[in-house]
Amino acid sequence: MKKFDPSAAIHDSLVFGEFGDVNPSITDSSTFTFLSTNKMEEVFEHEIEGCFLYSRHWNPINKYLSDTLARFENTESAQVTASGMGAINCAVMQLCDSGDEIVSSHTIYGGTYALFKNFLPKFNIKVNFVDITNLEQVKNAMTDKTKVVYCETISNPLLEIADIPSLSKIAKSKGAKLVVDNTFAPMIVTPKRLGADVVIHSMTKYINGTSDCVAGCICSTREFISQLNDVNSGASMLLGTVLDSHRAASILKNMHTLHIRMEKHGENAMYIAKEFTKLGLKTYYPGLKTHKGYKLLNSMMNDGFGYSGMIAVDVGNEKKANKLMEMMQQEQVGYLAVSLGYFKTLFSAPSHSTSSEIPEAEQKKIGLGKGLVRFSIGLDNDIEESFNRIKKCMKKLKIV
Ligand SMILES: *Cc1c(COP(=O)(O)O)cnc(C)c1O
Repeated sequence: MKKFDPSAAIHDSLVFGEFGDVNPSITDSSTFTFLSTNKMEEVFEHEIEGCFLYSRHWNPINKYLSDTLARFENTESAQVTASGMGAINCAVMQLCDSGDEIVSSHTIYGGTYALFKNFLPKFNIKVNFVDITNLEQVKNAMTDKTKVVYCETISNPLLEIADIPSLSKIAKSKGAKLVVDNTFAPMIVTPKRLGADVVIHSMTKYINGTSDCVAGCICSTREFISQLNDVNSGASMLLGTVLDSHRAASILKNMHTLHIRMEKHGENAMYIAKEFTKLGLKTYYPGLKTHKGYKLLNSMMNDGFGYSGMIAVDVGNEKKANKLMEMMQQEQVGYLAVSLGYFKTLFSAPSHSTSSEIPEAEQKKIGLGKGLVRFSIGLDNDIEESFNRIKKCMKKLKIV
């Protein structure tokens, strides 16, 4: 397959402001005027390129950002949303009717897990959770009612890798769509090129990269994005997950540094992961040859953007994990906070934060220990110094 460079796809997105401003103008209006009633009727009936009606439907700056995301994920079209959860909701609600089923990885973001486990059953949509790395289990969970196979490229928090080409084949053979949450791996993996039908991001994380807003997107075919925006039956239009246009403008600007950030996050995380391994810590990082998904990820990756900035490390028990995180914050390694993709390092203990929606028995089953600490490694210029501070904390707590 011909190599794909997602950074070039962003670089080549040329949009100017009203007066040739180097950044496109921010849409500062919720509604748009028409010179004739006929034209307004026409736009209600079907989308017309360059014609805008109402901002919950579309507006110019959200369109520019969506178009950039589509080029970036190599899809025909895209749609920005007010959050990652908004994107996931719109996609699955559009694809599933009452009575339909979803086959989903059991190691997914806690919010997605809660949506699938507790909320979708209210609409008679059943979710079968599986170990997504076990393709036989995925096949066996598929029924005639399965409309969606759902996974994360790099899963949260154990950083397991989904075999997107194989999952795509399984989904296709049953007429289901493969929906991939690519939040942990922007630039690194382009799921559409590997067979995904719908690609989702929480742009709150790497894509925006400054932890100053919540946003999401759905990248897919022109047909699917158009369905989402149908004024009579579109999930995006009717659930009202519109992204604020000021935010769309700032995210678009931040996207232009994403390639540099991903490379640096990856470089720093690789350094830390290797040092953790040398200290004898149980370290989960897909850039390590010892990681279960290392080969698979390599077979799916774009060149030059590293293995992402996420590391999970097991420090033994909850008490040690908690103490370590408090101490690291005092030593200014970074912040004790959920989320990821920020320029500073963030750390949290998934079992009692981002994955706390997953019941304890299930956590145990998937190997999510109470001593697990998840790092989102930042853009530190002197990563050796950052590591030395972490090591100092670990020594004090007799973790190493
Ligand atoms: C944060 C996150 C989400 C949810 O996104 P929000 O922007 O917080 O709504 C979904 N999936 C993954 C993998 C995430 O990390």
